[in-house]
Amino acid sequence: MGCFYCSASLDSTPWGRQNASNGQTVDHLIPPKRGGLTVSSNLVYACRSCNSEKGEMTLAEYRSWCAAHRTWKLDRWGRFPGER
Ligand SMILES: [Zn+2]
Repeated sequence: MGCFYCSASLDSTPWGRQNASNGQTVDHLIPPKRGGLTVSSNLVYACRSCNSEKGEMTLAEYRSWCAAHRTWKLDRWGRFPGER
């Protein structure tokens, strides 16, 4: 199980423990504050750095942000590792 956004391997820490250095966190593709629901189709595993970097951006907004700042996370079709 790797990070949805950067494919980094994740510690298999329990969902409740999200404070490990590169621990597994659960990210909302559409953040709750943006109207996203806590349902499996809106949840992905992400490393802590990607999760905090994405913040309150939606998946589409983070894709655009990465295209502008961190192109290495996206493949040539603009997809994140978790979308392949
Ligand atoms: Zn990541």
